[in-house]
Amino acid sequence: MIFRIWVVIFWVGLLMGCSEPTKNESAGKMVQPEKVYRWRLVTAWPKNFPGMGMAPEHIADAVREMSNGRLDIKVYGAGEIVPALEVFEAVSQGTVQMGHSSAYYWRGSVPAAQFFTAVPFGLTAQEMNGWLLHGGGLALWEELYARYDLLPIPGGNTGVQMAGWFNKEINSLADLKGIKMRIPGLGGEVFEAAGGTAVTIPGGEIFTSLQTGVIDAAEWVGPYNDLSIGFHQVAKYYYYPGWQEPGPNLELIINKQAWESLPADLQAILRTASLAVNNDVLAQYTARNNKALKELVEQHGVEVRRLPDDVLAQLKLISDERVAELVGEDELSKRIYQSYETFRKEMTAYNEYSERAFMKVRAALEGY
Ligand code: CA
Repeated sequence: MIFRIWVVIFWVGLLMGCSEPTKNESAGKMVQPEKVYRWRLVTAWPKNFPGMGMAPEHIADAVREMSNGRLDIKVYGAGEIVPALEVFEAVSQGTVQMGHSSAYYWRGSVPAAQFFTAVPFGLTAQEMNGWLLHGGGLALWEELYARYDLLPIPGGNTGVQMAGWFNKEINSLADLKGIKMRIPGLGGEVFEAAGGTAVTIPGGEIFTSLQTGVIDAAEWVGPYNDLSIGFHQVAKYYYYPGWQEPGPNLELIINKQAWESLPADLQAILRTASLAVNNDVLAQYTARNNKALKELVEQHGVEVRRLPDDVLAQLKLISDERVAELVGEDELSKRIYQSYETFRKEMTAYNEYSERAFMKVRAALEGY
């Protein structure tokens, strides 16, 4: 009879997603079966979208294997539980335990979050990882998100993006006037200050918006992702460089109570898997963007254009103003800005001896 009761408790426990201690009759002592944590992760991406959309799937797979199934994370695409632009709120409120998205989507309620995605003319992917993981950035990000019961972890980086898809040529800043463009974050604020209209639309809805004329232009990511969406079917010119997002960081967010409920080893597994995937995402974009751009040009006839220098210079001036305005608001934003700016300046100076110096030499020797 006692055995039957324990069996019932065991199965009820399993069905509820965790099991209670059971008594090992033969040994005559209490044994702690391994508790299984079943979590849900919502994203701002279409389900299984290449690159960024697969990042949380890879984190979930790695965590499941490393924890021997004790932490089981199920990934949901945009709209499956909550819409793309409600990921932050859903995780903050504990509707789900985790989310994967971009911090700049939350600029309406958390303006300083934008520093943790991208700043126009700011840090590249390599520099962004340096600032976050060894330059004080992550501690500031944690301090900001603690106010919303969230723990952030870098969740991948796409590398320098493209400036976007247009159906008219951009020869001067005046050509941006009147253009309604999908361009989120600080890039969007700069675009508005330059005379355009900026809108934030989730990745899965941009193509239709451009096709139906709801918007005139759009930036999404870079060749690898843009080819998979098919923007070349609805736009003629593909502009570069991605001044608005030189090294955008993706975010993995975890509800604080959920995080604290995990034993230390599962926390370590989750953090380690996330940082491994953070690195893997950048490697994937690095390997695939080049081939995708070739395909866009050679097979789809896309016209690749460089934004004129004077347009970039003016966007930089506006960008510096807008970022300065953003940081006028509160003490923590000022500290984040100071930290980011100091790091950016130091990197720009050091690059004269490292990446930029080498890239210039290599390109010149290869005939570019
Ligand atoms: Ca983008």
